[in-house]
Amino acid sequence: MRHATLRQLCDGLSAGKFSSVEVTQAFLNKINELNSTLNCFISVDAARSLAQAQAADALRAAGKAQPLTGVPIAQKDIFCTQGWLTTCGSKMLSNFVSPYDAHVVERFNTAGVVNLGKTNMDEFAMGSSNETSFYGPVRNPWDRDRVPGGSSGGSAAAVAARLAPAATGTDTGGSIRQPAALTGICGLKPTYGVVSRYGMIAFASSLDQGGPMARTADDLGLMLNVMAGFDARDSTSLQRDTEDYTRDLTKPLAGLRIGLPKEFFAAGASADVARAVESAIAEYRKLGCDIVEVSLPNMGLSVPVYYVLAPAEASSNLSRFDGVRYGHRAAEYSDLTDMYEKSRAEGFGAEVKRRILIGAYVLSHGYYDAYYIRAQKLRRLIAQDFTEAFKKCDVIMGPTSPSTAFKIGEKSGDPVQMYLSDIYTIAVNLAGLPGMSIPCGFDSGGLPVGLQIIGNYFSEAHMLNVAHQYQQATDWHTRAPAGIT
Ligand code: GLN
Repeated sequence: MRHATLRQLCDGLSAGKFSSVEVTQAFLNKINELNSTLNCFISVDAARSLAQAQAADALRAAGKAQPLTGVPIAQKDIFCTQGWLTTCGSKMLSNFVSPYDAHVVERFNTAGVVNLGKTNMDEFAMGSSNETSFYGPVRNPWDRDRVPGGSSGGSAAAVAARLAPAATGTDTGGSIRQPAALTGICGLKPTYGVVSRYGMIAFASSLDQGGPMARTADDLGLMLNVMAGFDARDSTSLQRDTEDYTRDLTKPLAGLRIGLPKEFFAAGASADVARAVESAIAEYRKLGCDIVEVSLPNMGLSVPVYYVLAPAEASSNLSRFDGVRYGHRAAEYSDLTDMYEKSRAEGFGAEVKRRILIGAYVLSHGYYDAYYIRAQKLRRLIAQDFTEAFKKCDVIMGPTSPSTAFKIGEKSGDPVQMYLSDIYTIAVNLAGLPGMSIPCGFDSGGLPVGLQIIGNYFSEAHMLNVAHQYQQATDWHTRAPAGIT
């Protein structure tokens, strides 16, 4: 049962082959067995999950089941979940039990989906390795000495280790796609504005976007069908007609124009990653696709532009954590200012402090024009590059990450090396485009490689079609890490 896809679990539940309580219990048992080593979950509450499963079974018995009723999934601990500890991977929120649900959580609840627990993540989603979490690093199920990527590393490792059939993630600069690549699963960052940010703890609001992580393109579509939708409480949420994101899965790909940006292959992907991505492209040729070269001339600016804009927004967003309203408060202080300072000094980890300092600096009088305004202008140029490229192609492909999973500790002492993990993913967030990663092979050490697929605005259904057709022709997405039974 734990190796079944979300689609198979939905079918099994509706055919009465098993109950939601049985499925949920099977996953909870395995979480109980493996979480002490993998550290995927920050909070598990079996009684709560099983009560949700019972309610889902009752709904089904009453003939009121929706497509996903009764399937269990995991929620990244950045989504406020009523009655659950919601920590965002930080000491600052280590005592925060959310009084309300994020829009995404609300939608899963309405759909009758069971929550298996809250997954580990880099502190406030700042990181590419899950090592900045206050709750300790997550281990990659393919090699437990290696990172699962980040910041949605707990969700990615949980799905790869079959501790959950699917999970939610968020992606500000690559945090769904990069961990999906490093753990051999699929992840989709939708077009900015498709999934509401309400109740999703803010990192960099103009870039943050929630999305699904699962083992097949089909399952990503099922998840996105629940997650997407207008929400008046997020001012950037888009009002669009409801879509079935799985509607185009079976369309043939003949004639599809795949753009390969020449800058992607000059950007220093490892030989193993380049080889796996090239064989995936060869597979697409066999499916009748045409390959065209495109150019993203400003792509090289995306990491520096991101590391001005994201910290600027973060420094503003994180000012709310002041020890007054919620979260950590220092035990001893002399006056109000001292209380703010001590609470923030104790509550935030080193990476978060680094971002707050950079953000406050680039926004400060005298530097604002030189850094922040300039970065905003470059952001526009990066977005225009994609607009030009999509005149020549239907989707863009390339690596998701320059390397496969690295060792725990290997990059944590060198922030710039860590920041370069997202060299292929960040431009997509700056442009607000949808991007996804699907497994496309392994390196010489047996670690998974991800293929990135970037689509034009609102082309999620088409991207899932492109991914699904590849998954009908190959079996990379079905492989499980050794020892995961
Ligand atoms: N790794 C990038 C960062 O550290 C992106 C993180 C994310 O997408 N949340 O900011």
